[in-house]
Amino acid sequence: MEQTNEINEAIDIPVAERRCVDDKNLKFKKKIIFLSPLLVFFFFLIGLLLKSNFKINNFMMNNSDPRILGHLPYEEVLKEDLVFIEPHIWVHKDMSRSLLSMRQDAKREGVNLVFLSGYRSIKLQEEIFYSLKSIRNQNASERARVSAPPGYSEHSTGFAIDIGDANYRETDFEVEFENTDAFRWLKMNAAKYHFKLSFRKNNRHINYEPWHWRYEGSIEALKVFETANREFINASN
Ligand SMILES: [Zn+2]
Repeated sequence: MEQTNEINEAIDIPVAERRCVDDKNLKFKKKIIFLSPLLVFFFFLIGLLLKSNFKINNFMMNNSDPRILGHLPYEEVLKEDLVFIEPHIWVHKDMSRSLLSMRQDAKREGVNLVFLSGYRSIKLQEEIFYSLKSIRNQNASERARVSAPPGYSEHSTGFAIDIGDANYRETDFEVEFENTDAFRWLKMNAAKYHFKLSFRKNNRHINYEPWHWRYEGSIEALKVFETANREFINASN
């Protein structure tokens, strides 16, 4: 009997141990099967939270967006910082020399630039925005595509200039200006004088204005247009 028991024990023990390992595996698997949906649900919840947080941030950013109808706000330049260029054209003193040498150099190459509009007071911008709006029977949003609301025009800073071609005056303030020698010359050379096209093609809110250039050749001008440039970089990304 003793011998039989010993044999049984010798057989039983390894079998019992194997069962024990299998049980552990089974329990582990059961736990995994039970926990999997919970884990999936947990990650789903985290995803939802991140998404809603992103929406809240976006909402807050949109609410703090300083733009009106796509235009950024600009302060009016101090009168003492303006210089006279020619009748009806005043610009910021920082950009006057650069602007005049640009016109002079263009002329040497047979291109005659005409200055159509420089500094505009917020008061004048108000008259332009509202009078033309009523004449053309446009609502504010439609009007804002072609003209900035008062307090939101680059012209108020003294750093913006509208340019035409002396030989093609019918293209003044028209998209067709882009087919003139003046525009082609500006496209090739304006950057050398620190001028940049403000409203390019495919702007979401504002129409393309090939005649409208802004000056970025001084620290003050760069500060004025910092937000506009940051938005452009973001939009490009
Ligand atoms: Zn303009």
